[in-house]
Amino acid sequence: MAKRTKYVKPEHREILTAEVLASKRLSPNFVRVTIGGEGLAGYTSMGFDQWFRLFMPGKDGNLRLPTSASSLGWYAQYLMMGKETRPVVRNYTVRDYRAAGFGEFGSSAEIDIDFVSHGDDSPASTWANNATPGDRIGLLDEGIMYQAPDHCAFSLLVGDESALPAIAGSLRSAPRELKGAAFIEIPHADDAQELNEPEGVQVNWVVREDAHAETGTAVANAVRTADIPSAGVYAFIAGEQKLASGVRRHLAQEREIPKADITFTGYWRVGKAAG
Ligand SMILES: Cc1cc2nc3c(=O)[nH]c(=O)nc-3n(C[C@H](O)[C@H](O)[C@H](O)COP(=O)(O)OP(=O)(O)OC[C@H]3O[C@@H](n4cnc5c(N)ncnc54)[C@H](O)[C@@H]3O)c2cc1C
Repeated sequence: MAKRTKYVKPEHREILTAEVLASKRLSPNFVRVTIGGEGLAGYTSMGFDQWFRLFMPGKDGNLRLPTSASSLGWYAQYLMMGKETRPVVRNYTVRDYRAAGFGEFGSSAEIDIDFVSHGDDSPASTWANNATPGDRIGLLDEGIMYQAPDHCAFSLLVGDESALPAIAGSLRSAPRELKGAAFIEIPHADDAQELNEPEGVQVNWVVREDAHAETGTAVANAVRTADIPSAGVYAFIAGEQKLASGVRRHLAQEREIPKADITFTGYWRVGKAAG
């Protein structure tokens, strides 16, 4: 059984190794990298927005992984490694999981990761753009954050492109009778994807018309004018830090959604590398 706290955490923590099986450009701003290999046998899929820490080769091109997987242990070991040899570590979401025997590229389990392509000085985005079959990575499962309480019959999911995989996974795993709405800001109309959402959930793609506009402004405006029930709403908000905190503030203060019924996470911050 997974551990249920504020979030659902995996029962067993271990840094798994995997290798790139395939990569392809999905749309103007997304690259999909599929990883697999025998190391993924230890991975347990939980669905929803299940996310993980992705360990990529460091500056010297080698992949050096911590041996501890406890939340403080791996980070302490990471800090002890020299700046040249420590791995690049970033957070990503499982866009799709296929169990061993059901893969597209071989007999092992497979995980698809959808990376936003967002600039050259960004190690994870750059790694994804250049990922080649056989490249090795490490993966530390961190569980799921989406947790609609039983008293909420309506789910509101809000995010930018970095949260598209989390919203897609949550809608795919949600009960088919769920009612709700999703608002997803994307840089280009062609970045929209099929989401397999329940019939009662309306998906709204909010295209950032102005390429220079701050990420999150358009989707926050869309939520402000959206028709949302006055009670029984669970909200899941993820993406750029200001988007997440701004939409949460609006929902809590103006829509009076109890803070306990809102999950919000800053996935990245303008002008600040995550490492
Ligand atoms: C739980 C969780 C799940 C996530 N899942 C995904 C996922 O499935 N797919 C995904 O693409 N991202 C996802 N992210 C976001 C991802 O971890 C960050 O975008 C990360 O900073 C990317 O690392 P990087 O090395 O490419 O850029 P960094 O080195 O971290 O940043 C370099 C520069 O790029 C900017 N930047 C970072 N991310 C973005 C972005 N998305 N758009 C525009 N500019 C950016 C920063 O502000 C900085 O100026 C997730 C984050 C969390 C916390």
